[in-house]
Amino acid sequence: MERIVSLCKRRGFIYPSSEIYGGAGSVWDYGPVGVLLKNNVKGAWWRAVVQQRDDMVGLDAAILMHPRVWEASGHVSGFSDPLVDCLQCKQRFRADDLAGDRCPACGGELTEARPFNLMFKTFMGPVENEATVTYLRPETCQGIFVNFKNVLVSSRKQPPFGIAQIGKSFRNEITTGNFTFRSREFEQYEIEYFVPPEQADQWFEYWVAERLKWYTDFGIAADRLRLRPHREDELAHYASRCTDIEYGFPFGWSELEGIANRQDFDLRQHQEYSGRDLTYFDEAEKRRYLPHVIEPSGGVDRSMLAFLVDAYEEIPGGRGSAGAEVESVLRLHPRLAPIKAAVLPLVRRDGMPDRARAIYDDLRRHWFVEYDEGGSIGRRYRRQDEIGTPFCMTIDSQTAEDGTVTVRDRDTMEQIRVSADKLVEFLRDKLGEC
Ligand code: ATP
Repeated sequence: MERIVSLCKRRGFIYPSSEIYGGAGSVWDYGPVGVLLKNNVKGAWWRAVVQQRDDMVGLDAAILMHPRVWEASGHVSGFSDPLVDCLQCKQRFRADDLAGDRCPACGGELTEARPFNLMFKTFMGPVENEATVTYLRPETCQGIFVNFKNVLVSSRKQPPFGIAQIGKSFRNEITTGNFTFRSREFEQYEIEYFVPPEQADQWFEYWVAERLKWYTDFGIAADRLRLRPHREDELAHYASRCTDIEYGFPFGWSELEGIANRQDFDLRQHQEYSGRDLTYFDEAEKRRYLPHVIEPSGGVDRSMLAFLVDAYEEIPGGRGSAGAEVESVLRLHPRLAPIKAAVLPLVRRDGMPDRARAIYDDLRRHWFVEYDEGGSIGRRYRRQDEIGTPFCMTIDSQTAEDGTVTVRDRDTMEQIRVSADKLVEFLRDKLGEC
């Protein structure tokens, strides 16, 4: 993990937030290639669950919501973790994370556990008092539930159908850690899939399989993923079933996404608290009901971390004949790779930079492509390997003679010659619909 964290910082994937001030506790900033990777992860999800389906629509609800939302959802009264204080060193811990009954830092005595609400509180408007308190959303799905009727009417969908959303969520986690795995500000991608009550079980199974497949489709090794059905005693009060998709991180098997059968809990609560009718009338069957909801709820930052960890490979002694140092390669799926190709003039003379620039200008109309003319060609290849660039295109002396460039494959290191005017076609063929 340490080496991945270091690569992320060195190459511009992820930095600690406000680092020059000593960092903000468990908040992270995505750098120049990190933001591209994250956008590609979100794009891949959106394509799979919205664009390519006719039973799904998207939504982008506000982070700030009416405070009653969080009363109806149960977050004001119940969204808490058990907190204990060490009487000696004053550190705070999540009681359910501790193995024994003493402080893990200093061995001191701990207080009794008490509930600690994880929502960030703030005020809406210019007056700060109890009546203006609201919260930064701790999950995106409530924005979907409160818009259920709006979407139903405006999109003319009928159950079974789903609403998908990607957005920031905030939780004032007691214990954070494992890099971006548990942060206080993070992004979620969530689907609320509304179904007739009697179809809930069947759609639950469907979404577990569908979501598991998405991770392997984008390159995660199947044997590093597993499904973990929740035991009866760990189910959230609103869920009748829940299965987590877990990834085998270096710090252990951990949840990437949970798929839950939330039944009609949320619509029923919002119907009661808002006084609005949230039922659906099925014209064909002439019956009115509150749809049940299957929720696949995942974390963008967590899955991005899994994609990074899974793609990372170290080669002791390097892959070339000369090198003795350790080389690292990020074997990211081409659709997720931040930079699709690098254009590299072999040397900075004989017209190579000009020819390379022309190719670069042509390719970047289609994809994120980098131009790099600094340092030895071997070093430039290694830099691209470390950020997961699938192809490097080198402009050399032969380019002036026959118009071809060397195309190097990140994974096989195979080099072939491709005509410069066929590079767009070549990349389109290799990358698919990136
Ligand atoms: P955990 O048990 O790890 O705290 P959770 O079960 O509370 O997670 P959910 O409320 O089901 O998480 O949230 C759905 C998804 O949102 C999780 O699967 C995870 O990917 C993501 N997520 C939740 N909390 C965090 C966090 N603090 N940092 C990053 N991602 C998070």
